[in-house]
Amino acid sequence: MITDLRLKESNDKKIESFYNKAIKDLDTFYQIKWNENKPNIFLIKSRKDFDILYGYKTEPWVVGTTMGTQNKVYLLAPDVYEKQSNHKYSDREYEALLRHEISHLYSRIFFSEYRPRWLLEGIAIYSSGQLELKKKIIKFSAFLDFFDKGGSGIYEESGWAVLILDKEFGREKLLEFLKSLNGFKNKEEFLKIFRKIYGFDLKYEWFNERIEKYI
Ligand SMILES: [Zn+2]
Repeated sequence: MITDLRLKESNDKKIESFYNKAIKDLDTFYQIKWNENKPNIFLIKSRKDFDILYGYKTEPWVVGTTMGTQNKVYLLAPDVYEKQSNHKYSDREYEALLRHEISHLYSRIFFSEYRPRWLLEGIAIYSSGQLELKKKIIKFSAFLDFFDKGGSGIYEESGWAVLILDKEFGREKLLEFLKSLNGFKNKEEFLKIFRKIYGFDLKYEWFNERIEKYI
């Protein structure tokens, strides 16, 4: 069974303040105001509960997930975070994690699918402030592989790639891009939409040329 600790029923003032700040900042990032049916946060007490939720044995680095269609976020609870994962707990990391998962729910408002994965993860990483906790990138060479597949490698480059797109072309373009992806069928079509919105072919080279300027 999943231990049901809905945020609004819990007395954890710290997590509640993380939550309120996340909603405020993500409203700004996505240029919308989320007032009704706001995200519900469930704090999970063990790895086992996570596995039940996923339906398979999860990796030790998995600490949060979303159920997009139901506006739900699931996180390993702070007090079991270190014991039930291979992460070290800090308020800063946990706040960014909460924000990351809630950000996935926001991006769904614009585009309801979960691919290309690098783009969706990249947006969540960038909008959550997790880049401040990450090593700076020296060279892009892998993120485009994460179209349908996931894996821990997705978190290294994708946030930086989205940062560069956002800094170079602005937020409205990024949100327009997300919206225009609805209904795309395959990778070729995705690349076509990318070219149409951003005006260049999606290649590592373009990002690598801008590392020095933005990162
Ligand atoms: Zn994510």
